[in-house]
Amino acid sequence: MAEESVPQKPLPEADDASRPFYEAAMGGKLMLMRCTDCGGYRVPSRMHCDVCLSTNVEWAQASGRATIRTLGVMHQKYHAGFYPELPYNLALIELEEGPRMVSNVVGAANGDLRVGMPVQVEFEQHADVAIPKFRPA
Ligand SMILES: [Zn+2]
Repeated sequence: MAEESVPQKPLPEADDASRPFYEAAMGGKLMLMRCTDCGGYRVPSRMHCDVCLSTNVEWAQASGRATIRTLGVMHQKYHAGFYPELPYNLALIELEEGPRMVSNVVGAANGDLRVGMPVQVEFEQHADVAIPKFRPA
């Protein structure tokens, strides 16, 4: 009997702006791009600052401490690769440093998650990329 193949989830591919972010993630570090002219964070990483249009940047390691600001639970299969994980959550995570990012909260039942819950970053490792996820702290 032929084994049924399950489509793989799409994974992010680094570009010039995000390459340092993903390289650090492979090493278990959450690095944030910060504008050296106005101090604003650029999350997700991008070449120009939204505030002052500067292209000057530095990378700062985030603490990994964060808070769930809002969340939802996905029940629909929008991509076959995500089917095995349904229902899964999507959460807007506010990092201790201020920037917000969309991620998943792992290590807890979706029904136990709450807005305002403290979480801590961890990394889902794949062959060529690591993806930040958050676990209740
Ligand atoms: Zn700036």
